[in-house]
Amino acid sequence: MLIVQKYGGTSVGSLERIKAVAQRVAESVRAGAKVAVVVSAMSGETDRLIGLAGSLCKRPEEREMDLLLSSGERVSAALTALALKELGVKAMSFTGRQTGIRTDKAHTRAKIEKITATRVKKALDNDTVAVIAGFQGVTEDEDVTTLGRGGSDLTAVALAAALDADLCEIYTDVEGVYTTDPNIVPEARKMEKISYDEMLELASLGAKVLQTRSVEFAKKYGVPLVVKSSFNNAPGTYIVKEDKQMEKVVVSGVTYDKNQSKLTVLGVPDKPGIAGRLFSEIAGSGLVVDMIVQNISPDGKSTDISFTIPKTDSPRGLDLTKRFAAEFGAKGVDLKDDISKVSIVGVGMRTHSGVAAKMFETLAAHNINIMMIGTSEIKVSCVIESKYTELAVRVLHEAFGLENG
Ligand code: ADP
Ligand code: ASP
Ligand code: MG
Repeated sequence: MLIVQKYGGTSVGSLERIKAVAQRVAESVRAGAKVAVVVSAMSGETDRLIGLAGSLCKRPEEREMDLLLSSGERVSAALTALALKELGVKAMSFTGRQTGIRTDKAHTRAKIEKITATRVKKALDNDTVAVIAGFQGVTEDEDVTTLGRGGSDLTAVALAAALDADLCEIYTDVEGVYTTDPNIVPEARKMEKISYDEMLELASLGAKVLQTRSVEFAKKYGVPLVVKSSFNNAPGTYIVKEDKQMEKVVVSGVTYDKNQSKLTVLGVPDKPGIAGRLFSEIAGSGLVVDMIVQNISPDGKSTDISFTIPKTDSPRGLDLTKRFAAEFGAKGVDLKDDISKVSIVGVGMRTHSGVAAKMFETLAAHNINIMMIGTSEIKVSCVIESKYTELAVRVLHEAFGLENG
């Protein structure tokens, strides 16, 4: 049995926690498993490093950021290997480079292209636990890259695929995947299992318990995945292929995302080609647009176009739309950072109508104004004022009967 175990930031947040992780790994080894361990930086460390760079310069270069951020995971890997040795377990730590994780050159959000894992395999063959620094790789030019926030999940899943592991266990600070963030709604229910597609929607809509790209990867390569707590032995949540029984669930979860900003170009001439120009410029500058709404203004001759982009990109988005507005004679540009997106997700929505209406009515009943709406086959999203996020999540969770019991 070969297992990949990933421990997140809180799970390795102190020396005590690292010792506890080593104990857990040791138990798996004693039970006869070969174990590759992927670790995140100690909790808060990545943000601390980002803060350090930010206080030195306004827009730190991404190449240097990657070298800086990769250090957090290295510290955890080395300490975890030392803690294992203290328990008499053979262990060896490896960086992304030593693991043979080759990525593209997209610094701070690199994609994994190949994993050789030669040294990891050799360690495992010698009954040695391999402890791998998550979240990082190296380009063909040997520059260090990182895999985007939450990227240690991707390291674990990709490594599990490369090693053809029997299971990839994601250990975190909650007991599994819940119907919504259990830290906001204590009544949230833990799911025994969830389909890759639903998990993908939950993750991409803000449920950070698994990084979106790690779920995409797991789905593509059929990696058997389970999310569990590193603090107890409760059974976790299995991420599996969709089955018939699951289709009965109309809404399986509620998510929120506070990391978006809304930009509006006001009073753009209402003629063909304008939206095309705007969004091709935005795409050309590498900004990822999520939701789009176009409204006709009262005069019927001009239109307002609103769209959302990641909050971290809003200064760049603002510069670009201001230039565009000037060029096309628009009336102005408006940026709103205090927004959030709440979503309901479920594969059963495919065959049920009235779900969106119920969502809108529930928000209205609590005087929460909806600024934008987006839908797909298995989700409905609403952009609302950020201060109502927790309230919206709670009332939607209740309205769709997702609570425990
Ligand atoms: P780690 O450091 O272990 O990677 P993260 O903080 O990235 O952990 O992810 C775990 C957190 O995800 C939980 O503490 C919880 O607040 C949040 N979360 C959001 N939505 C969900 C959900 N639907 N189910 C479980 N956890 C969720
Ligand atoms: N340390 C990185 C982050 O905070 C990666 C991870 O935790 O998965 O985003
Ligand atoms: Mg995480």
